Amino acid sequence: MTETNKRDFLKFLAAGTVMSSAVFAPSLAFGQNPAHVVVIGGGTGGATAAKYLKMGDKTIRVTIIETNDVYQRCYGSNEVLTGHSTIEDLSISYDSLRDKYGVDFMFDTVTAVDSNSRQITLETGAKLSYDRLIVSPGISFTWTETDGYSEEIANSVMPHSWKAGEQTLLLKRQIDAMPDDGTMIIVPPPNPYRCPPGPYERASLLAEMFQKEKPQAKILVLDVKDGFAKDQPFMLGWNRLYDFQIPETKMDGMPDDVNIFDAPGMIEWVPGSDGGKVVAVDANAMTVTTQFGDTIHGDVINFIPPQKAAKLAFDMDLTEGNWCPINHLTMESTRHPNIHVIGDSCVADEMPKSGYSANTQAKVVAAQILHLLHDQEPEEPTWSNVCFSRVSSEYGVSVGGIYRLDHETGKIVSTQGSGGVSPLDASHQFNRLEALYQGAWMENFVTDSFG
Ligand SMILES: Cc1cc2nc3c(=O)[nH]c(=O)nc-3n(C[C@H](O)[C@H](O)[C@H](O)COP(=O)(O)OP(=O)(O)OC[C@H]3O[C@@H](n4cnc5c(N)ncnc54)[C@H](O)[C@@H]3O)c2cc1C
Repeated sequence: MTETNKRDFLKFLAAGTVMSSAVFAPSLAFGQNPAHVVVIGGGTGGATAAKYLKMGDKTIRVTIIETNDVYQRCYGSNEVLTGHSTIEDLSISYDSLRDKYGVDFMFDTVTAVDSNSRQITLETGAKLSYDRLIVSPGISFTWTETDGYSEEIANSVMPHSWKAGEQTLLLKRQIDAMPDDGTMIIVPPPNPYRCPPGPYERASLLAEMFQKEKPQAKILVLDVKDGFAKDQPFMLGWNRLYDFQIPETKMDGMPDDVNIFDAPGMIEWVPGSDGGKVVAVDANAMTVTTQFGDTIHGDVINFIPPQKAAKLAFDMDLTEGNWCPINHLTMESTRHPNIHVIGDSCVADEMPKSGYSANTQAKVVAAQILHLLHDQEPEEPTWSNVCFSRVSSEYGVSVGGIYRLDHETGKIVSTQGSGGVSPLDASHQFNRLEALYQGAWMENFVTDSFG
């Protein structure tokens, strides 16, 4: 994407063009009773959906059922690892959704849903009924694919830090205690997983920190994949900042001033085809063994396991394979009527699993549910995603896209000519601005979903 295209694209996103506002029309009465939309999961997708439903029609009842009374966001959690933020900075209160928008809350865990009687059962035994249900429960992990790895190991020795909270703090403690010349191994998961650039942003920000605090330290990224989101802009940044050897396969289109190094710098990335896949771990010896049989010691091992829809989605019979199939026009489950699935748990085809995607899916589902409750046809949906990552605190890269429904296949596809990744010939100032945009994005985004 050229710099001019990128500016136009960002303007488009700033205009909030997800759907026309025509749907946010006058109130609906279901006989004498207002319709009741229940949202399971008060994370990014669920909170945004609840807020936009109430913005669209104040008279409907909207209830969020959420396990925790404070949301701990994952976005920004890599900065907790480097000490640039605290875990408290990640906490988001639900006060605004309740007090400003009139969303009701039940802090409890859903254990079962009967889609025939439209009844929800909670852990405390309480029951609740709905007219339409939105499910945005996030992800869960597959623990069993790697020898020697388990949930217990993740909670004690090899944290994933892929859900914010105790996992973030455990990994931070390990990084702080790592010897000055230690090796940190990061094992990114196979696709699809939440926040595709996240493991690489983590490597970047830790490299920036190690440069100052542990200049002899190494970050070894052992990847099952041969590429990742924004890989070339990331690698160019790593080359400039952390003496990264760019592999031959990623050199296409790189600017002439790329540095050529004859030894790995602070970050080394091993793709799957070079044996990056980790097949076993040994928590006692603190080693990982790769597909090619190399056993490597790490002082810190950040193993991020493969991912799938949240447990509740399986319990509710919303899944096929690992994720929840939906009708993309209305985001309604193809398995159970009146239940809409959004966010990381749903199959959204070309859209990445990100907070931003969950946020625009939430706006689409809110609009479509209001249409359905008003006995109106659903509107033509569009979705968007934009993601800024920091290669350092002053060097950012981004990816963005606008998505539409392909009516022939029923799939969500990229709109031709939209979005793209940061150009490789970007100026220094451009990358600097992208790092600044990341901060602004975070603030605006949190406010849009929860504020
Ligand atoms: C390190 C990292 C960095 C990231 N950075 C970015 C970024 O920069 N930009 C971006 O767009 N995205 C980012 N993401 C991804 C983003 O956090 C997720 O994609 C987003 O949170 C998905 O929203 P969701 O609503 O699907 O799930 P979540 O936000 O995880 O919310 C799910 C909620 O459901 C609740 N829940 C689950 N089951 C039940 C139940 N049975 N009963 C009641 N409640 C339940 C959970 O408690 C949780 O609050 C990042 C992720 C990570 C790990």
